[in-house]
Amino acid sequence: MAQLLIAGRWTDGISRQQMLHRFTGQAIDSIPVAGVAQVTEAVTSAQQAFEASRLTPSDRHRILGRAASLVEERREDLIALVSAETGFPRVDAENEVNRTVLTLQLSAEEAHRIVGEMVPLEATPGLTDRIGFTVLVPLGIVCAITPFNSPLNVVAHKVAPAIAAGNAVILKPSEHVPLTAVALCRLLIDAGLPATMISLVHGGAEIGRALVADPRIAFYAFTGSTRVGKEIQAGAGLRRTQLELGSIASTIVCADADLRAAVAKCVSAGFRKAGQVCTSVQRLYVQREAATQFTELLVAATRALPFGDPSLPDTVVGPMISVEHAKRAESWIGEACAAGARVLCGGTRSGAVLAPTVLGDVRPDMKVMCEEIFAPVLCLSVFDGLQEAIDAANSTPFGLAVGLFTSDLSVALKAGRKLRFGGIHVNEASSARVDVMPFGGVKDSGFGREGPRYAVREMMEERLLTIRY
Ligand code: NAD
Repeated sequence: MAQLLIAGRWTDGISRQQMLHRFTGQAIDSIPVAGVAQVTEAVTSAQQAFEASRLTPSDRHRILGRAASLVEERREDLIALVSAETGFPRVDAENEVNRTVLTLQLSAEEAHRIVGEMVPLEATPGLTDRIGFTVLVPLGIVCAITPFNSPLNVVAHKVAPAIAAGNAVILKPSEHVPLTAVALCRLLIDAGLPATMISLVHGGAEIGRALVADPRIAFYAFTGSTRVGKEIQAGAGLRRTQLELGSIASTIVCADADLRAAVAKCVSAGFRKAGQVCTSVQRLYVQREAATQFTELLVAATRALPFGDPSLPDTVVGPMISVEHAKRAESWIGEACAAGARVLCGGTRSGAVLAPTVLGDVRPDMKVMCEEIFAPVLCLSVFDGLQEAIDAANSTPFGLAVGLFTSDLSVALKAGRKLRFGGIHVNEASSARVDVMPFGGVKDSGFGREGPRYAVREMMEERLLTIRY
């Protein structure tokens, strides 16, 4: 089946990649892989489409709103596809689909809010009879390069604001999850987007590099690892980017917190999508006075999580994206244990399924603590004074999101100033995103903000006009 979208036509690639069900291993489809010449062709046609485009903000609003409705209409098919491609249990796939509806709706609304601002030129002494204002214009071609762990909603967070802003879009989804991206492109076209305004190319690093090498692309909206993000930024030069990169997220639990609520949030944030979330709780710091009770509650809640076959209705933690990914995480657990860490629960692996794991007696120099594990593994540490926990959370090269549980507002506000992260969530775990937020990192977690309101502005150019009258 032709599943590349170039110059408004569904077309074939230069080879085919077999797509297997993540859990059963059964073939579910095959996908064409693009050649580098097809990337050039996609950019040429996107450029022409952008220059010829007459889509008004009202058109863009209508298309994105209709796309949101189509996601609702096709939700069961999308849930099945996301689940098959990623191995997510239904609860995670459903969440991905529900959030995408909102992301599209929010983007539709932003198409109606594209405004510049008046510039008070007459604040300049002696200057009269001149007005100035800015207008926002689309950049041209926005290229979205996306990761495997959110095949629908992260893709929507790139593509929908780019459309709302009036750009032409080229999408390169993760080679692990290309089929959901095909479904999203079909849906956007069915919603009224001219097919030439969105291109879809499949492939891995080679195709990504070819996209970065093409100077006609104005903007790269990237979510993925810090290693690849750095390479993209190096290739983009002076062109603008939005880089949503890796993370080692921490959550801090003070002794005065509601411990049961904190456990429930940490378990959800640590293990949903099998821990393959950029804001997943990896490091969990608990104040000494509460450590025994919190640990008991945490271990009991983790042991109670059904894991394994994602097609079973009760499963909460499904397989990781591949057996290799699960083996890598398992080997880090083994290394940590050899260096003195203790498995408080979990730690076992069957194929790509890693049992939800809690580790105690961890040290900051263990890989499970100082590299992004991207797996269902929580590392528990005990702290005395809050400053100690803040320093520990800040000590990684990353800065995407952090959680803090306390019932003391003053502690929360003070800590908020000291924690160096793009998002600080009080009485929530690090993974507490909702789609209307400005979402993004600092330090090695990148820069730029997702969230339709913020992304639309990043994907436009602000121009100043002044008029003497
Ligand atoms: P990845 O970096 O391996 O791949 C991401 C995308 O980049 C894929 O589409 C891939 O094909 C492409 N790519 C690979 N090499 C490239 C190159 N040289 N040039 C251009 N494109 C290239 O990431 P992944 O394994 O798919 O996803 C996991 C990572 O994503 C984790 O580090 C996670 O923290 C991060 N992530 C971050 C956020 C965030 O919002 N900050 C959200 C989700 C995932």
